Amino acid sequence: MKAFEAVEKYFNKAADHLELPDSMRRLLVTCKREVQVEVPVEMDDGRLETLIGFRVQHNNARGPMKGGLRYHWEVDLDEVRALASLMTWKTAVVNLPYGGAKGGICIDPRKLSAKELERITRKFVDQIHEIIGPDVDIPAPDMGTNATVMSWIRNQWEKYHGFNPAVITGKPVEHYGSKGREEATGRGLGILAFKVLQRLGRFPKDTRVAIQGFGNVGTHAAKLLHESDFKIVAISDLSGAYYNPNGLDIPAALKHVLQHHSLKGFGNAELITNEELLALNVEMLVPAALGNVINASNVHSIKAQIIIEGANGPVAPEADDVFEANKVLVLPDILANAGGVTVSYFEWVQNRQYYVWDLNRVRQSLDNVLSSAFEDVWQMSQEHKVSLRTAAFMIGIDRVRRATELSGY
Ligand code: GLU
Repeated sequence: MKAFEAVEKYFNKAADHLELPDSMRRLLVTCKREVQVEVPVEMDDGRLETLIGFRVQHNNARGPMKGGLRYHWEVDLDEVRALASLMTWKTAVVNLPYGGAKGGICIDPRKLSAKELERITRKFVDQIHEIIGPDVDIPAPDMGTNATVMSWIRNQWEKYHGFNPAVITGKPVEHYGSKGREEATGRGLGILAFKVLQRLGRFPKDTRVAIQGFGNVGTHAAKLLHESDFKIVAISDLSGAYYNPNGLDIPAALKHVLQHHSLKGFGNAELITNEELLALNVEMLVPAALGNVINASNVHSIKAQIIIEGANGPVAPEADDVFEANKVLVLPDILANAGGVTVSYFEWVQNRQYYVWDLNRVRQSLDNVLSSAFEDVWQMSQEHKVSLRTAAFMIGIDRVRRATELSGY
């Protein structure tokens, strides 16, 4: 199943519960604007490379559109469209005054020099600068992009439009970025994982966790979960998965990654495959890498009773149905990884007020936003006897529908 079709499936399941008419479904599912641009760049060796970049703006009924920019070799229009629509439901479920968008370029950033990445980024901004802006569409980091890339984007955009750091979030703190933005997605995931345990009457120390993906989300989630006494028994990246049933030394793993930019060679653990990690005998599984990693082909091997979706779209709808039938609790991406966009919102607010929040204020505010979103979703799921995913979609969809009806079509 294609990525956009998968999101549509989740959308329709929730829309059924809301008894949303077909005409409104069509309006809410359809993307407002989809832009595909040519990005011609000169590589370091003098070769001309023609890349394809995308920005999909899904919905702006609740505010300017918001969402990351992904640099990955699997980026295509369908995926960007799916991720853009997820952003609409994500910003709505945590109640940020935003709509949803997403962008990307089909490249493998690991194979490019910093100078090539910078040229590609600036060229891409040349193509899309007119359709982004602080009141229109505010990009941010996603897979394969980081604070440095955001700085280039801001700098290039400002050449056309003048000073306005609120055009982009996830910037370096030295460049109008917010304190706590980098850790925000992983931290939010940790906050929410703890809330789930509280509701289930379980304790972190009795909770073995496997985390797939050790990038921005996985590392910060691992750090917070480890500090909160969860027992992390497996972590992974592209080099493989590292397993120790007695618990991994997470501070050592973080140090290793800082030094080597990969987990490759990380000791004191058994080397297993990413596929084996998913099937480990653990209480909690955190897929925090690519989408569609848990699907019809491997869902029956999953033993975890709690799944926290760090990545966007890691569980395919067929697998989600199996989890629902087997009472496996899935905390959906649109809530589980919403910490990132929440602190992006704080960054945008700070930029617009020329005011800087301290880290405590950011963390406290993040906790407040996510806690109240979690309560809303939990209540909705209890009340309507639906999964947390369907409940989260119901809340998101209903908020967007109301905003759409209030402003007219
Ligand atoms: N890329 C992140 C996400 O998928 C963050 C988006 C943002 O901060 O705008 O939620």
